[in-house]
Formats: sequence, C-alpha cells, structure tokens
Amino acid sequence: MIKMITNKELIEKTKNVLNPKEINAALGIQTGYTGCALLTKNGSVYTGVNIDLACGIGFCAEHNAISTMITNNEFDIKKIVAFSAIGKIIPPCGRCRELISQISKYNYNNTEIIISNNKSKKLKELLPLDWKRYFK
Ligand SMILES: [Zn+2]
Repeated sequence: MIKMITNKELIEKTKNVLNPKEINAALGIQTGYTGCALLTKNGSVYTGVNIDLACGIGFCAEHNAISTMITNNEFDIKKIVAFSAIGKIIPPCGRCRELISQISKYNYNNTEIIISNNKSKKLKELLPLDWKRYFK
C-alpha cells in the first residue's frame, strides 16, 4: 500500500533539511540554503539541499533529492517542492524542470510542482513546448 503524504507534510520535510552554511565566504560557497522534498509514484520521499559552488559547478536542492531518488532506483516523481531559507516555497529553475522531465516519461505529464502552500502546477505547465516531443 502506497503511503499518502499531504502537501503540507512534504513542505515540512523541506524545512527539516534546511541547514544554511557558508563554507567559504570569499568564494561565495554555501550549502543548505534551499531544501527539497519529493514524493515518488511508489510513495517514497527523498530530500536534498542545494550546494552553491564557484565556477557554476554547484547544484540545486531538487538535483540533490533527485540524485538520491535515482540512487534508490526510482525515477517517477508524483510531487516535488523546494523551500528557501528566505522563508518561501520556490519553483524549480529551468535546469531542474528539464532534469525532472528527462529522467522519466511519466514526469512531464504527471509531476505536481508545489508552488505555494495551497497551489501546485503540473510540470508540463511550467515547461511548455517540450523539445523532446519533436523526437517521437
Ligand atoms: Zn534548479
């Protein structure tokens, strides 16, 4: 039986992983300023935090949570949310939207992106004119 989790519970999990740290102020290297939680189609929850590095080699909290999900051999995301240390839910950046869409055909039409405490959108609404559809 797949365990259901409410949006509110998923949002709470993002706050639980927030752990803002400035690793190297001179280089602007920080971690944990954004937390992400995702629920898979199978009912698993994975979390992650951002890693901001110099030279553009860091990655978003979504990226981190998705990597952990894939490590556990899951690819289909039912819901995903990110919460910033500035105290707001923030939608995924363009790179993360593309990442979510490329790892599973399920995700483009089905992943629910939580964009506020009481509002969400499907990935396909946030990533219209998907280029991958032209390769079918
Ligand atoms: Zn991102």
